[in-house]
Amino acid sequence: QAKSGGRDHARMFTPQMQEQQLQQLHLESDLRHAAERQELVLYYQPRIDARSGCLNGVESLIRWQHPQHGLIAPDSFIPAAEESGLIVSIGAWVIREACRQQVAWREAGMGDIAVSINLSAIQLKSGGLAATLREVLREFAVTPGQVEFELTESILMDNVDDTIATLHAIKALGFALSIDDFGTGYSSLNYLCRFPLDKLKIDMSFVQDIHGSPQNLAVTKTIVGLGHTLGLSVTAEGVESAADADVLRHAGCDELQGYYFARPMPQAQFIVWLAQSAAPRAA
Ligand code: C2E
Ligand code: MG
Ligand code: MG
Ligand code: MG
Repeated sequence: QAKSGGRDHARMFTPQMQEQQLQQLHLESDLRHAAERQELVLYYQPRIDARSGCLNGVESLIRWQHPQHGLIAPDSFIPAAEESGLIVSIGAWVIREACRQQVAWREAGMGDIAVSINLSAIQLKSGGLAATLREVLREFAVTPGQVEFELTESILMDNVDDTIATLHAIKALGFALSIDDFGTGYSSLNYLCRFPLDKLKIDMSFVQDIHGSPQNLAVTKTIVGLGHTLGLSVTAEGVESAADADVLRHAGCDELQGYYFARPMPQAQFIVWLAQSAAPRAA
C-alpha cells in the first residue's frame, strides 16, 4: 500500500517529524470512520446584510468531534481529507447536511435561511459534483438559490475550462457561487468575468483592523469596485469590531461576517442567537 511506503520514507526524518506523520496516519484512519460514526458536525456563522443589519444567511463550517482529541478545526483535517480523497464523501455529507438543516429550519417556522457551503478543489474535480447536487435536490425541498457554494481562487484558476463548465452546471441547477478568500490568490481578471459568479468574499487579512490601515482600506475599496462593476455582491469576512464594520459598510460592502456579529455555532445555539438577535435587528 502507498501508505506503508510513506512510512518507510519517514525513517529519514527527524523523530519529531516522524511523530507528526504517525499522528497524521492515525487521524486519517480515524477520519475514514468519522462520517459513519456521526462525528462530523456543521457549525453555522451568520452573514449580515451591511445596510439593514438583518440576517442574510449562514456559512456552514465543518468540525470533527473526535472521541479522544475533542473538537477539531477544519484546517487540521481537511488537508488530510483532501490528500486521501476522503473529502469527496465528506464534502457530499456536508452538502446533504446543510440542505437537510435548511429544510429543517424552514419546517420549524424559521423561514428560508440561505446557507453557504465551502467546496474543495478535489470535489470540483471529482466529476460527481453535479450528480450529487441533483440527488440532493431530489431528496430535499431546498430552494437552490438559497444555497451558495464558496470556492477559492486557486480552485478556479486550476484547469479553467473544465472549471467553467462545472460551474455552469452548478448554476444551471439554480445554486449560487462565490469566491472565498478573494485577494489572496492569483485570479486573472480576464477569467474572472468568465466564471458565472454571484459574490466575492474579501479575505480576512484585508478586513481585520481595517479601521487602522489605509492600505487595507484601499485594497478593500478596489475589490468592492471590481465586484460591483462585474455585477457581484461583496462580502467582508473576519469582521471583529464595530469600528471595522463601520468602515466596511462605508467602503460599500454588501454583507459582513465575523466574530463581532457572531462566531460559528452549532445549530441549537444558532436558533437561540437568532431568537435573541432578530428583534433588535429588524427594528
Ligand atoms: P473560510 O471558508 O474562509 O471560513 C472562514 C474562517 O474564518 C472560519 O474558520 C471561521 O470560523 C473564521 N472566522 C469567522 N469570523 C472570524 C473573525 O471575525 N475572526 C477570525 N479570526 N476568524 C473568523 P474555520 O471554521 O476554522 O474554517 C477554516 C477553513 O476551513 C474555512 O475557511 C474553509 O476554507 C475550510 N472549511 C470549513 N468548512 C469546510 C467544509 O465543509 N468543506 C471544505 N472543503 N472546507 C471547509
Ligand atoms: Mg468560506
Ligand atoms: Mg474565507
Ligand atoms: Mg479560508
